[in-house]
Amino acid sequence: MRWSWKIGEVAGIGLYIHATFWLLIAFVLFLNWSGGRNLLTALYAASFILVVFGCITLHELGHAAAARYFGVRTRDITLLPIGGLARLERMPDDPIQELWVALAGPAVNLAIAGLLYGAIASSGGGVSLDQLIAFDGDFLTRLLIVNVWLVAFNMVPAFPMDGGRVLRALLATRLDYRRATRIAARIGRGIACVFALAGLFTDPFLIFIGLFVWTGAGEEDSLPSMHPPVGNIAVQNVMLREVRTLRPDDTLGDAVNQVLSGWREDFPVVFGDHVLGLLTREGMTRSIAQTGPETRVRDAMRRDISSIDSRLNLEQALVMIRECNCRSLPVVHEGRLAGLLTLDNVGEFLSIQSALLQADRKSREKKEEDIGRRSPDAII
Ligand SMILES: [Zn+2]
Repeated sequence: MRWSWKIGEVAGIGLYIHATFWLLIAFVLFLNWSGGRNLLTALYAASFILVVFGCITLHELGHAAAARYFGVRTRDITLLPIGGLARLERMPDDPIQELWVALAGPAVNLAIAGLLYGAIASSGGGVSLDQLIAFDGDFLTRLLIVNVWLVAFNMVPAFPMDGGRVLRALLATRLDYRRATRIAARIGRGIACVFALAGLFTDPFLIFIGLFVWTGAGEEDSLPSMHPPVGNIAVQNVMLREVRTLRPDDTLGDAVNQVLSGWREDFPVVFGDHVLGLLTREGMTRSIAQTGPETRVRDAMRRDISSIDSRLNLEQALVMIRECNCRSLPVVHEGRLAGLLTLDNVGEFLSIQSALLQADRKSREKKEEDIGRRSPDAII
């Protein structure tokens, strides 16, 4: 996410803080300062925020742990003032699994609240409903209240809150995934408007939350359009099979000739059948400009790329392409170059696939209609 800084790593997951989180801390310090409080009170307030930040981190790690249970890695976690975002490499295909991943975060805060309540109750204290609403009490009580509010906020059925995912997962058990997303995103935007409107008359902080939810809902809507169809398709069914390759000793001039004769993609660089690297189109033009067309391919190619196994599923392959920040990757079968997977040919494949799906759905609907017309008794 933009405007985020890395602050650490837990179990291989990068931990980031979003700029707005610092705004919140600055806001708290400002409130204390403008209220004429002393330094100790201000630091107490700031340290409280840091502990809350710890709870939000645990919340996100809850998501990450559930995702790992279903075999999905978490790329990074970003902390925002009203919660955090764990960026998973993908959402589990099964909506029920997505449901568990979404619920795992709030469950952590619920557990923290439970533990705190136990601690408070065992020392003879308690927490009243008035305290809950007025945000009143000592350090532990207020921490408990924050965790209760974190559960409540995150279960609001709007993206990017967990409640939005829960809603989508529940819808997706009955509807097509994309439609479920669209409906959930629309409900999310409706709720964002309610937040913003309520903020106008009550707490301006709600306007900020409304804005955040609005943009989050939009992002989520545009995100999974690629998600459902690529699940079980193997790379070998999509890749380009006729591939122009270069040898490490070829020159960039040779590459240019290939381009002029019609090759539009990156070049796998091979020795025999063995892939050594990838000469990207950008790499080619950049090196020609810097060192001329006599430059050897081996000096201009990218060596940091990994090849895709032809039996890998398309979704994981797309993650690899995205991670290496390139437009294509060589595909190998039993160690030998078998093809090239490019974003363009994946895009083409998906658009054809969705056209086929649509045609299939239409013919199925027609068939159902026909069956319905012919024998209305069959439908009970
Ligand atoms: Zn969450």
